[in-house]
Amino acid sequence: MVGADQTLRPFLWRAAKLHPDSEIVSRTARGIERYGYDEYDDRTAQLANALDAAGVESGDRVATFCWNHHRHAETYFGVPNSGAQLHTINPLLPDHHIQYIVENAEDRLLFVDPSLVEKLEGAADSEAFESVEQFVVMDEAVPDTSLDPVTDYESFVGDQPTDYDWPSLSGDTPAGMCYTSGTTGKPKGVEYTQQMLWGHTMATLTPQGLAFEESDVIMPVVPMFHVNAWGIPYSATAAGAKQVYPGPAPEPADLASLIEEEGVTFTAGVPTVWLGLLEYLAENDADMSSLERIVIGGSAAPESLIREFDEEYDVEVLHAWGMTETAPIGTVSHLKSKMDDWSKEDQYEKRGKQGLIAPGLEFKVVGDDGEEVPWNGEDFGEMYIKGPWVTQSYFKRPEANEQDFEGEWLKTGDVVTVDSDGYVKIIDRAKDVIKSGGEWISSVELENALMAHDEVAEATVVGVPHERWQERPVAFVVPVEGTDEDALKESILAQIREEYPRWWAPDEVVFIEEVPKTATGKFDKKVLREQYDDESLVAGSVPEEAAPDEE
Ligand code: ADP
Repeated sequence: MVGADQTLRPFLWRAAKLHPDSEIVSRTARGIERYGYDEYDDRTAQLANALDAAGVESGDRVATFCWNHHRHAETYFGVPNSGAQLHTINPLLPDHHIQYIVENAEDRLLFVDPSLVEKLEGAADSEAFESVEQFVVMDEAVPDTSLDPVTDYESFVGDQPTDYDWPSLSGDTPAGMCYTSGTTGKPKGVEYTQQMLWGHTMATLTPQGLAFEESDVIMPVVPMFHVNAWGIPYSATAAGAKQVYPGPAPEPADLASLIEEEGVTFTAGVPTVWLGLLEYLAENDADMSSLERIVIGGSAAPESLIREFDEEYDVEVLHAWGMTETAPIGTVSHLKSKMDDWSKEDQYEKRGKQGLIAPGLEFKVVGDDGEEVPWNGEDFGEMYIKGPWVTQSYFKRPEANEQDFEGEWLKTGDVVTVDSDGYVKIIDRAKDVIKSGGEWISSVELENALMAHDEVAEATVVGVPHERWQERPVAFVVPVEGTDEDALKESILAQIREEYPRWWAPDEVVFIEEVPKTATGKFDKKVLREQYDDESLVAGSVPEEAAPDEE
C-alpha cells in the first residue's frame, strides 16, 4: 500500500517551506521583477482560486501563449495542481497550426504575453477559437486588442485568497500538454500526467540527469512552450534553487547580463542560443565566472561549442537528447568516472554524443531488418524508447499512434549508433523534417505549397546543414518548361512568406531537371542531401530578422 500518488504539489510546498527566500527572478518589459518561493506559492494559490472563479473545472485545458517569466511559472503549478491541464502553445508556429491546436485541445482559457497579443489576434480570428472563453494578458493592464473577453493577469488573480485547498490528485491525472510538429501532417498533442512530470523531475534531479542543487541559480533559456522548458521549472523548484527567467525573446546581451548580475550557475537551451552568446562574448566584456554548466539539446551540439565553453569559460556543456514525447529528457552526456583521466580530445568525442540513457528509461536500436543492432558504435538503426515519462499515445490521433508506437515502445524517428560504453549518437533522422534554431519546419508543407504553384512541375525541400541554425531549408524545383527561373523563384518565395512565418522560407531555390527518385518512385532526398552536404548553399544566408526567436 502506498500513500499519496506521485504529483507536483509537494515540490512547491517544500520549496515554500524550506526556501521561502530563494528567489524567482524575471526579466519583463517592466524591468526585473523578483520574489521568493513563499510568494510564488501564494500567487499560485491565488491563480488556482481565480481559475475556480472563472469556472475552470478538473480536466479542463488552460492554454498559455507566453515566453519565460514568473507569471508563466505560476501557471506551471497553479493549473495542474488544481486538477486542470496546462497546455503550452508555441507562438512561433504558423497561424493555421495554432488554430488546429487550440481547436483540438478545446482550450477554455488562454494566457497571453503582451508582446504576443498581436500575433495571437491573427490566429484567434477564427472559429477554431470557439472554446476559448477568456483571454488573460500576462501584465498589470490590458493593451488595446481585439481579443475578447480579455482581462489582465494581476486583476485576474489580485483579489483571490493566498491559500487553496489543493485536491488530492491521482498520478494519472493529465497535468500538461504540448504539441509536436515534428513529423508530417498536423501537430500531434502529447499529454503529460502528474506522474510523468513527477518521474521526469526526480530523474532530472539525479547526478545522471541535471543534478540540481539548492545552491544553484538556474536560468532556462529554452522557451517554456518547449516541453515545459525541458522540465526545468519543476526540477529547479524541487531543488529549491533560485530561478531566473529571461523574458520575451532574449538577446545574447540580455543573457550575458542576467548571468553576470544574478550569478547564474546553470542554464539550458538549443545550440543556436549558445553560438549567439559566444559571438557576443568575443566582442563584449561580461563576467561569466558564476556559470558552471549548460545543458544543450533540441539539435546536435557541435563539438566546437562544447570545447569553446570548456576552454574559454570553464563551463561544462551537458549535451542532452529528448523529444516532446519523452517529457523531454531521454539521454544526457555525462562522462563515466573511468574517463576522468582520458585525454581532452577523447572526452570531447564522448561529450559530443547525445549521451547515456537517463535512469528509469529503457531503449533499443532497431536496424532495417527489424533486429536490434549491437552496441559497437558502428551499426545503426532507429532508436525506440520506453519508460514512465514516455508518452504511450497521441491525443485524439489514432492513425499516428499506429505509426509511431510498437507496444510500449515509442519509435523516435532518430537514427543512432550506440558505442560499447552505452553512449548514444544521433547520425540521421528517419522523419522528414527540418529543425532550424530549435524550431521545426515541415518540409512536406513547404513541398505542398511549392507543388501548388502553376509553374512548378516537381519540387522537394531538404534540410541543409547550417553553422548557426543547425539546418536551413533549401527548395529543389523542376520548373515547367519555358518558365523564367528568376521570376519563378521570386514568386515562390513571396508565396511562402505570405502563408508561413518568414523563417520558414527556403534560403535557396535550386532549379534542377529532375528530382532523384528511389526504386519505388519516391523522392530520394538522401541523394540531394549528400550532394548538398556542405554549408556553401546557405552559409550566412538567413537574414537576422528571419530568426525563429524574432518572429
Ligand atoms: P524538443 O523541444 O526537446 O526539441 P521535439 O519533440 O520538438 O523536442 O524534437 C525532438 C527531436 O529533436 C528529436 O527526435 C531529435 O530529432 C531532435 N533532437 C533533440 N535533441 C537533439 C540532440 N541533442 N541532437 C540531435 N537531435 C536532437
